[in-house]
Amino acid sequence: MHDSKEFISSSIKALNDKWDFDSSNTVAGGQDSNDLSTLDKYGYVIKPQEVKFKFINPKNKQGNPKEILKHNTDEYEKLMKIRINEPKNADIDSMRPPAEGDFDKYQYESATIIALVRNSEASNIGKSIKRFEKRFNSKFRYPYTFINDQPFNEKFKKHMASLSQAEMHFVEIPSNLWDKPEIIDPEKQKKLMDELASKDIAYAQKESYHNMCRFYSGTFYKLPELQKFKYYWRIEPDVDFYTDINYDVFKYMRQTKKKYGFTVNLYDIAETVPSLWPETLKFLNMGDNYKYVNPNGAFQWLLDDLQNPNKNAEAGGYSCCHFWSNFEIGDLDFFRGEAYDAWFNYLDSTGNFYYERWGDAPVHSVGLALFADKNDIHWFRDIGYVHTPYMNCPNRESASCDAGRFTPFDSLLDQNCMTNWIDYSMDDPNAIY
Ligand code: GDP
Ligand code: MN
Repeated sequence: MHDSKEFISSSIKALNDKWDFDSSNTVAGGQDSNDLSTLDKYGYVIKPQEVKFKFINPKNKQGNPKEILKHNTDEYEKLMKIRINEPKNADIDSMRPPAEGDFDKYQYESATIIALVRNSEASNIGKSIKRFEKRFNSKFRYPYTFINDQPFNEKFKKHMASLSQAEMHFVEIPSNLWDKPEIIDPEKQKKLMDELASKDIAYAQKESYHNMCRFYSGTFYKLPELQKFKYYWRIEPDVDFYTDINYDVFKYMRQTKKKYGFTVNLYDIAETVPSLWPETLKFLNMGDNYKYVNPNGAFQWLLDDLQNPNKNAEAGGYSCCHFWSNFEIGDLDFFRGEAYDAWFNYLDSTGNFYYERWGDAPVHSVGLALFADKNDIHWFRDIGYVHTPYMNCPNRESASCDAGRFTPFDSLLDQNCMTNWIDYSMDDPNAIY
């Protein structure tokens, strides 16, 4: 049984067991010992008087984590086997591609396809673009923005230009948006990253990977070249798209006022984000930062501990479930907004993009779950997508994949947490489309 009090207190207990905070930012709590706010003596609780949690009691989620995983996996596969069409909560027919040759008259959204890549990845990102063009962008010709911490060379630019008729921009990231900040203590960084590497955590010692995660977490939306855009669609090298997309997804975002769209929901490695949630709670308890929390946030998804209690405990109360950010369609105004940006600045000040290995995916996900209305976060379940080894494979006519399959490897099926999204937070859960 999961009522809201029990749920928050177990999250706080895990936090308290693991983290020894100084209480300088503690917010005064209530007097009643049954009042959750008394837990504020630990300093870091989402104050129930300010945030209304709507907790679903998952009736059919009883049993041990293994049973719950089985239930969740079955539920996911069952849902994915249902025929999926285009969204029904918007006027999709008003979002069709322009007739042949009529790109000039097309009413474009303010949007761009973004890809952070190295010159050496020309052929890998090229593959993604070919597939992306075939399924979507040759019909619309949204502009590309290629982003790099080094200047793009002519060979890279020429290869990209050969793959699409769309406009292309090539952007070099200013060093202040990419380089490791000066506050980072190199010795501490080395010691902690050696430790993390000894646990076989990929990229722990690779500083450029940490730069990349910090960039996509909190500085990409500050690039001067992205200021004129409202929406972005992020792509990566070596991804594939399994379904035809015959409507303008950016128009869909605007018409439905969505802030973020994703395709895959999975667990992160808890060791990479041990303090992300605890530090976030610290931030929320500073000054009047609670004002940033959206009363209709995706809290239960964020804090679930039923399917994978170990991860939750290790990450101090965060489920570790996140939107996989190698695919994302987002509203830049969300990231540029005061809440997200203030929170990112706090996260950055902890140094933990370098002392831990916080990924941009969990950072986006925690930010969205707290600061966006969960109805403004959209699972594009109609878009077939793969970044090895995980995919979103809907049952659709044009899909060139095995419907409902999350990964080719059975041993990785436990990494899927989409059912938590479906059960707790999904927009319009009755709209089977
Ligand atoms: P993974 O998916 O987590 O294994 O990480 P990737 O290696 O795919 O990196 C994520 C994205 O960032 C990809 O689009 C990479 O091309 C890009 N990327 C990673 N590191 C760098 C870097 O040092 N420079 C540039 N320009 N791009 C990078
Ligand atoms: Mn990748």
